[in-house]
Amino acid sequence: VDSPPGPKSRRLVRKQRDIESSAALYPTDIPIAFEAGRGATLKDVDGNLYLDFFAGIGVLNVGHANPYVTEAATEQLETLPHSLDFPTEPRLELIETLDEIAPPGLRGNNRVNFGGPTGSDAVEATIKLAKYNTGNDGLIAFRGSFHGETSGAFSLTADTKYKKPYTPLLPEVQHARYPYPFREDRSDDELVELALEEVKELLGDRYGAMSNPAGVWVEPIQGEGGTVVPPNGFLQGLRDLCDDYDVPLIVDEVQTGMGRTGEWWGSNHYDVTPDIMPMAKALGSGLPLSGTMYSEELDTWEPGGHTGTFRGFNPAMRASVRSIEYIRHHDLLEHATKLGARIRDRLRELEATNPHVGDVRGKGLFIGVELVDEDGKPAPELLADVRTTCYENGVLVWAGGRDDNVVRLLPPLVMTEEQADTGISILIDAIETSTS
Ligand code: PMP
Repeated sequence: VDSPPGPKSRRLVRKQRDIESSAALYPTDIPIAFEAGRGATLKDVDGNLYLDFFAGIGVLNVGHANPYVTEAATEQLETLPHSLDFPTEPRLELIETLDEIAPPGLRGNNRVNFGGPTGSDAVEATIKLAKYNTGNDGLIAFRGSFHGETSGAFSLTADTKYKKPYTPLLPEVQHARYPYPFREDRSDDELVELALEEVKELLGDRYGAMSNPAGVWVEPIQGEGGTVVPPNGFLQGLRDLCDDYDVPLIVDEVQTGMGRTGEWWGSNHYDVTPDIMPMAKALGSGLPLSGTMYSEELDTWEPGGHTGTFRGFNPAMRASVRSIEYIRHHDLLEHATKLGARIRDRLRELEATNPHVGDVRGKGLFIGVELVDEDGKPAPELLADVRTTCYENGVLVWAGGRDDNVVRLLPPLVMTEEQADTGISILIDAIETSTS
């Protein structure tokens, strides 16, 4: 076994660069070609094994190639893969199963609109649904947010240099402040108050910068923005504001959903029920599937109001039901909660002794480690270094944050304690080596 990247990986990465769009980003950061996955491990084409701490960015919650899932999906693939949105058993079974795990206020009181493969697709549906129901076109989102890269979803995504070449997108979008406790020297209460004040101003400013608002889009924990956990009171405050101004609250669970944070949905941590909730990523366990759950009162669409050819791929729906069953049967929500706490405890020991570890945060297996320089400023080069040392030693971690300085950990929920301990030791060694 060669140490990565081995010769076969290098060849395939070079080939991909020669023939595929240069927009394919990932091999630039992690120049490895994978061949197979099982549970929380991946194997590359040179035979190297890795512990996977990103799970396709929170897609493989029940692990790579989980036989309980793939068996049902394969059977469906051989029977009836595609049937537009005609009723099928897998489709109806999934709607019923999603209802069982819906946020409390949506349970027994929701509708589901299936999307195509991506989260962006579901977010597009939420924009149309909110506009259709309110008759308004103002969209309120947050700085640091990520909601996807199709035009509507990209309009909601926070302004960054990546967005500039494509503006103007949807004209009626405003971004409010998202509470970011580590970055600001204020109390949690103050941060929540400041953020809510901005939202309130936008909601109330009916004829000013914002045309009449159609909704507020929020990640319950910002993912790509750096695993930023808002203080208690923030999501609840948004719920109250949306009620006061009679606009829908759209909680984007694309990355935080399906058990990732130790609850089925990120909003469960804050006892908040969204009006509209886009879902994707782990929804299909690696098979392409997205959907939007929303409260029954908003189900005003005429037949065909929002549809498309691939709105419901039967094998992905079977996979989704099976994944939910698997998570329940193996108590993976509880496991994610405990394992996440164990991982954060170990990383906090490092934070106490290493000044380059600025902050360790997260919920369940949705974890961020913010790396800083000697002045406490974001340290993206350090992150790049740590990431390389990690993959060279068989551990795959994700990266993100407003300044690309947050190590992001999103392992499959099936990762064992032993695998987590091994991987986190390697991550800790990588941080120690890169900062010594
Ligand atoms: N919403 C959130 C919160 C996300 O994290 C992402 C993807 N990272 C999306 C939407 C878009 O999903 P996709 O990449 O599947 O289009």
